[in-house]
Amino acid sequence: MVSLFKEKKNVDVLICGAGPVGLFLANELAEFEINFRIIEKVEKHPEFSKALLISPRTMDILDNRGLLHPFLEYGVKMKQFFIIKDVHNPSNPFKAELSNMNNNFSFALMNRQNKTVDYLIDALDEKKSTRKEHVSNVEFCMELIKYEEKDDHVIAVVKNTKDNIEEEIICQYLVGCDGVHSTVRKGINGWTFEGQTLTSSWALADVEIDHELVKYDQATTFLLNKGPIGALPLDARKNTFRLVAKIGDEKKKNETNDHVTHGLTNENHITLEELQKLVDERIAPIKLELKNPVWISNFKINERIVNRYRTGRVFIAGDAAHCHSPLGGQGMNLGIQDAHNLAFKLALVIRNQAADDKKLLDSYEHERYPVGKNVIKGTGYFTKILSGNDYFSSFLRTRVTPILFHFFPKTVYNFLNNLMQNNLHYLPVSSEILHKYKPRSGTKNKLIEAGHYVQDGLLTKITSHKSHERITMFDIFRSTALKHTLILFTLNKGVTADCNPLIETLLEIYNDYKNTITPIIISYQGIVHDADVPFMPFQEEVREQHIFVERKFELHEKYGVMKEFGQQAFVLVRPDLYIASAVFEDDVDELKAFLDQYLAKADK
Ligand SMILES: Cc1cc2nc3c(=O)[nH]c(=O)nc-3n(C[C@H](O)[C@H](O)[C@H](O)COP(=O)(O)OP(=O)(O)OC[C@H]3O[C@@H](n4cnc5c(N)ncnc54)[C@H](O)[C@@H]3O)c2cc1C
Repeated sequence: MVSLFKEKKNVDVLICGAGPVGLFLANELAEFEINFRIIEKVEKHPEFSKALLISPRTMDILDNRGLLHPFLEYGVKMKQFFIIKDVHNPSNPFKAELSNMNNNFSFALMNRQNKTVDYLIDALDEKKSTRKEHVSNVEFCMELIKYEEKDDHVIAVVKNTKDNIEEEIICQYLVGCDGVHSTVRKGINGWTFEGQTLTSSWALADVEIDHELVKYDQATTFLLNKGPIGALPLDARKNTFRLVAKIGDEKKKNETNDHVTHGLTNENHITLEELQKLVDERIAPIKLELKNPVWISNFKINERIVNRYRTGRVFIAGDAAHCHSPLGGQGMNLGIQDAHNLAFKLALVIRNQAADDKKLLDSYEHERYPVGKNVIKGTGYFTKILSGNDYFSSFLRTRVTPILFHFFPKTVYNFLNNLMQNNLHYLPVSSEILHKYKPRSGTKNKLIEAGHYVQDGLLTKITSHKSHERITMFDIFRSTALKHTLILFTLNKGVTADCNPLIETLLEIYNDYKNTITPIIISYQGIVHDADVPFMPFQEEVREQHIFVERKFELHEKYGVMKEFGQQAFVLVRPDLYIASAVFEDDVDELKAFLDQYLAKADK
């Protein structure tokens, strides 16, 4: 090996690993105009796809950052779960529609992981070519070898795998998005990756299937005592599905941290013929012919999580931090959401816009660790119910599931909502940067709480040429969410400073936090004439980006600002679309005190 330190380069953030998580983080940092580099040890990403399912929550996030378009154009829309419990009576399945769940899309997207990676690389390249000078392209064939953390920087040693030349990169922060075998995680003593390898062994095959029971808009599952078989839509144009089948159970082996096989092993590959035989035996008299395999593999399930997400200036995200059963399709979604949570925090700290750097950066672990733990637990239960061969799992599968589907569909939808990450929120008790607010005005109010995810709804935009345009709350966040959005819900109390003193308060707060907050007013049914709106310091032409009207009382209600309660409310939304604070007008001083501890004032 040539050990020649070529050069030292300073960069704010070094991202190690250009899988979906590292690439999403790179896109985020590019948006926040943070100076970063992203290195990837392989020359080219593999053509096969591990992840398929993109959850509605991840779609929201991609949409918010203008990244969703290619996913929608080329992905397959999976609209329902179709569960066949009796192979002799397959036309009587359990069904659960994604349109009945708590999400903004009525489907989940099925998209090959290699395509996801391509789209994110394209988006980064486009940012580089059209907009941002500071944006870096992915540096392929660059492998992180080791690193050392100093007081105010990290020194990373990176090797070019083509010529073996090493380079030192000096960065303020290092983020390991380098998968289950993470070099970043292994680079610091004390970082553990505890958990277990499940005894069940599984096969997956991306194959053509032509059968009326297996459709493109559904996840078809055969719930069988010998082990489930699932067929997930993969590529409508090529008639391809991802077939997943439990092969069997093996005796438990002792595995150490270093022996993680998340997903794919190369041992004892199942052949197409063997898989066809297994499927035929299990679902007879139904005959699913498996043809033209693109990829066949075996996998075992690992359930592991790190003991921490951050050590000083070093962070980990995605599979480097957690891995779990792929049934339920959550790993990549979870990782992208890790990156979404971390990016704006790094950006605030790097730009000196945080009131307390340590508190803000610590909150990444405080918020994401419980989510990771819950996903491992949830997917673990799901896998056990689907495939466990113990009495309890079999009882749940064969006896309880039919009762739930027939008599308690709400319970089923609640479970599926969790699986699709639709109920995901953070708890103020575990995060120091979420406002722990208790309204003085009693418990009857339903004001949205800090840590919850934003709600969408329809609004009208009053344009400067006095026409009215329909707009959604999510359209607004698309333009504001690189900063925090401070929304004043005014009920019907008006949007002029004369009739509503809170307009002045909103402006005062905005003046203090100009660099980090965008103010928005949402008014109920008020007919707003342009001349009525003294929304200084905005000019007439930009006022329309700040004042919106709702004709029905839906959005106020969704955020818990109720007519009968009569109090206006401020809601502060973070760039990752979670609520940082929500207070009634009487308690605006509490919001100011919270902001004082959270964001740096504009003149700092
Ligand atoms: C069979 C299967 C099906 C799945 N289905 C789904 C699904 O439907 N939905 C879902 O959300 N998830 C699914 N997952 C999980 C999903 O694939 C992972 O969670 C996802 O790949 C994690 O992305 P990542 O970027 O964290 O890690 P990876 O995709 O592993 O990327 C890490 C990258 O880091 C690079 N790297 C590693 N070490 C270094 C180093 N030292 N220097 C530089 N680069 C380095 C690697 O080459 C790699 O490109 C599935 C997994 C499996 C196995």
